[in-house]
Amino acid sequence: MQAGTTIFEHMSGLARQHGAINLGQGFPDFGWPDAVLAAGATAITTGYNQYPPMRGLPELRTAVADFYQRRQGLTLSPEQVIITSGATEALAASIMAVAGPGDEVILFAPAYDAYAPLVRRAGATPVWVALQPPDWQASAGAIAAAITPATRAILINTPHNPTGGIAGPAMLAAIVDCARQHDLVIISDEVWEAVRTGAAPHISLLALAPERTIKIGSAGKLLALTGWKVGWVVAEAALAEQVAQVHQFLTFTTPPPLQVAVATGLALPDAWYDAGRARFTTARDRLAAALTAGGWALLPTQGSYFLMADLAASGIALGDRTFCEAAVARADDGVAAIPLSAFQPDGAETPFIRLCFAKSDGVLDEGARRLNLAR
Ligand code: PMP
Ligand code: GLN
Repeated sequence: MQAGTTIFEHMSGLARQHGAINLGQGFPDFGWPDAVLAAGATAITTGYNQYPPMRGLPELRTAVADFYQRRQGLTLSPEQVIITSGATEALAASIMAVAGPGDEVILFAPAYDAYAPLVRRAGATPVWVALQPPDWQASAGAIAAAITPATRAILINTPHNPTGGIAGPAMLAAIVDCARQHDLVIISDEVWEAVRTGAAPHISLLALAPERTIKIGSAGKLLALTGWKVGWVVAEAALAEQVAQVHQFLTFTTPPPLQVAVATGLALPDAWYDAGRARFTTARDRLAAALTAGGWALLPTQGSYFLMADLAASGIALGDRTFCEAAVARADDGVAAIPLSAFQPDGAETPFIRLCFAKSDGVLDEGARRLNLAR
């Protein structure tokens, strides 16, 4: 199966090649807790270096359950938590656990770039429901219309990459109703649950439909350590076990020093998490203000590291890929962004680009200066 190169790899490669400011691939240049780095280093030198249990180290499974109890009011036991190598593996294992050849999985467009390829690798078929701008919701009618006798699962992502939207109560209720009516599994990618830059609370699908939801989380996003690739699924025990059955033949385990360190991070006080949200919100506002002053039209965003700019409304008559390829290659003034088309089912050019604001002030200011020049 030919999959090409991901847009993130492509744009980060071009950014390195041209010495461009990289507002493309989503990774922060601040925001991780030093205590977690120290815990990882100590774990390496104190013996956490051989295969840990397949379902994850007990201390991390407990820490994940405790974290969601404390932060989201979910009542969980550690047996409901399976540690994976990033949310990406959690997605792969969950999809393969519930869907196979002849099955259909509902995806919302735009969608994180891994979803459709993973559904196809499982032998299943993606069926698309469009999210409607500017707040990126899908109606109950649109969701219901996508269900067929072959539907096995609905995969939702909230807060949403790439748009920064958050699924509202009506969309969440529609997903739950549909899933209950047709006995579907809900795979809920909640990796951005703590990176909220608006007032909307995080509502977990696991709270709304605990009997059928596989909730996916990522330490990469919770602790601003995207390269660590420690993630998890949380689900009712039998469903979690179904995912574990797949996980054991995908990666089997996840590096134990990182698991120990992540457990330390999840135990950080609420104040640390609240300060992180405030810091990311400040970064978002700084980039948004600089771009708005430069004439850019931006869409509202409530979560994730991203905001979206509307090329057409900003007076730019180029498609998103064309703009991004040109902007990253500008001599001395290159800036990398991600075209929304990379997240669309047909890949056709759109008038939207995604910008990562999880950067320190100097990078944001220079990125905005360059984007303003590129208009
Ligand atoms: N899902 C979404 C919506 C994401 O944005 C990302 C990464 N940005 C992932 C999954 C992958 O997370 P991880 O790096 O933990 O595999
Ligand atoms: N999830 C990150 C983003 O959306 C990138 C992950 C990756 O590089 N595959 O930018």
